[in-house]
Amino acid sequence: MKLKRAIENGTRPGPHLDVTGPYLEMLTGPEDARQTVAFWADRGVTSFKAYKHITREELSAAVKEAHKRGLKVTGHLCSVTYEEAAEIGIDNLEHGFFVNTALDPDKKPDACTDSDGDFTLEHISSAEAGRLIATLSRLSARRHCRRCRRRCATAFSTAATGRPTK
Ligand SMILES: [Zn+2]
Repeated sequence: MKLKRAIENGTRPGPHLDVTGPYLEMLTGPEDARQTVAFWADRGVTSFKAYKHITREELSAAVKEAHKRGLKVTGHLCSVTYEEAAEIGIDNLEHGFFVNTALDPDKKPDACTDSDGDFTLEHISSAEAGRLIATLSRLSARRHCRRCRRRCATAFSTAATGRPTK
């Protein structure tokens, strides 16, 4: 954090640093998730990694708080499936398909599984994998379009009423 600040102040040479906060896990609920993101974002953290035992409600609260601040959330998941995380609006999924637990036989909502996704990885058919990839792309495209449409709509309404567009 000190290094990032020194680079941004121009007192030290260096690249743009994307500083990640502590893993988002072992939270006591959505409000704790929101406050954790807010706490670290206020101290200059610019990205977050949701970790294995986070619940859907906590992930959702964390993503909402991060997005409000223009920050991104990635995840090394287990208790939340890839499809659920994409629906919530997570920005990135770590570790390829290794930790998707959707087909693990002991999968229960908001709980990690014994095999940590190994079972799903070994048993997912190529058709199911293809469907998952299509779903993830569709959800990410939908998010992108929503953001874009809002921007375009704002630009249009300000231009239409003769207000400055910048
Ligand atoms: Zn990881």
